[in-house]
Order: sequence, then C-alpha cells, then structure tokens
Amino acid sequence: MHRFKISRLASAQGYFWLHGAEKDHLVRVLRLQPGETVGGFDNSGREWLGKVMTITADEVCCQILAERRPEVEPRFAVYLVAGLAKADKFEWVIQKGTELGMAGFLPLQAKRSVVHLDGAKAAERVERWQKIAAEATKQSRRVREPRIFPVSAWPELAGRLGSQAEDMQWLIPYEEERTVGLLTAARQLDPSRPLGLLVGPEGGFEPAEVSWAKEHLGARSVSLGPRILRAETAALAALALVLGQWGELG
Ligand code: SAH
Repeated sequence: MHRFKISRLASAQGYFWLHGAEKDHLVRVLRLQPGETVGGFDNSGREWLGKVMTITADEVCCQILAERRPEVEPRFAVYLVAGLAKADKFEWVIQKGTELGMAGFLPLQAKRSVVHLDGAKAAERVERWQKIAAEATKQSRRVREPRIFPVSAWPELAGRLGSQAEDMQWLIPYEEERTVGLLTAARQLDPSRPLGLLVGPEGGFEPAEVSWAKEHLGARSVSLGPRILRAETAALAALALVLGQWGELG
C-alpha cells in the first residue's frame, strides 16, 4: 500500500487530504484512482488507512477507514550530529539513518569540514535533506519524519535542538579514544532521555572540539574500535549500535 504525508486532517468528520507534491505523486506518478486504499501519516505518531474519494486539480480527499498507532518509532530518541561533508555522503547518511530510526539530524560546521554552507545555500540544502528524510520515512514505514536541523556551529548546537537539549546525553565517537568503547557507553545511557551522537567530518574532530563537547555538553568520548571508519560509516555504525543495544533493531 502506498503511504502519503497528510496535509489536512478532519478525523472527527472522517477525512484527510493530500496537497502539493504528495497529491502529484498519487495522481501523476502512481496514477491511483478513486476507490483505492492508501495510508496516511502526519508526523504525530498516528497512521490512517484511507480510501481515495475525490481527486481535483489541487487536492486528493480520502475517507478514513481506520486509525492506528503503529509501534514503529524507536522509544529511544537518538539524534545524529555530523560534521558537514560532501552532499552525496550526507544524503546517504540521512536516508540510511532514517531507516535505522534516527530521531533527527543536525549538520555541524566542524573545524575540518571542507564544505562550508551558510545563508540561502544552507537553507536550500536543509530543505533537500528534509525531503530525503521524508522519502525514507515512507519507505521504512515510519510515522514520524526525522527533523533536519539548520547547519550549526558548535556554540549554537544545543540551542538549535530546542528544549530537548536540556535533557540530552552526548557521545562523541573519537578515534583517539582508547579506553571507552561505544557499546560499553551505550549500556550506561538512559533511554528515556534523548541522545546526541557527535560524529566528525572526513578529517575528524580537532582535539579542541572534543574538549569543547566534553566541557560544554558533558559529552563522553567513545571508540568504535581500532579501525578508522569513514565519517558516514562511523555515523551509521554508532547509530545502529546504540539502537541495537536498546532493542530497537530486532
Ligand atoms: N581524522 C581521522 C579520521 C576521521 S574519521 C583520520 O583521517 O585519521 C571521521 C569521524 O568518524 C571521526 O571524527 C569520528 O567521529 C568517527 N570515527 C571514525 N573511526 C572511528 C573510530 N575507530 N573510533 C571512534 N570514532 C571514529
């Protein structure tokens, strides 16, 4: 069954609507007709089964057949904070991170990031990444799209994540860390509080950045083993290990 992001919901009346790109996808790409059954979600954690009723130039109206709250979203909110890297690498991490169950993604302007983004260009990129997260949300049958936060520098980081940052725990995978392994640290986390995973850009973090994260965020540095992983591999491995440790990956 095809799934769509709902743009208007009138659950008491028993209808939901699709507009814009979602409507175009249903009409032009999938060529669905009235009478067909579709799924809808609105990022609230609920999901609806609907029947296509009418298709007009601007909207698709669906009648609600059933409402569900599928147990698909991780109970442990894990945010990836990744040093800004080349566009294709980031797209890949966002797509796979969404499938694995990340709660959100924040692009960090790290000292050794070779890519620099600001102003309109940064906003455009974030919009594109949000679309990739939206696609992966549908594909993986999630009901909440991971939010892609604006490109941020270290001092703005916590503020950008909003109120949840106050309660956040932080781990920073760092190749110079020899003592504490990620799995050991993951077992000591509190899954009722959000986690931020800080992963460096291709060139890695500067020691001063790691010290800053420890001092200002209370981050713990962790090892991902004796081999040096590419930034995108490190991000996804760390995410999978933490979620796996807490029973979210089967
Ligand atoms: N500067 C390094 C590699 C950086 S790898 C070099 O070129 O030698 C990019 C990021 O992945 C790092 O900043 C770190 O967050 C993570 N990473 C990669 N391998 C790791 C490992 N074995 N342990 C912990 N973190 C690792």
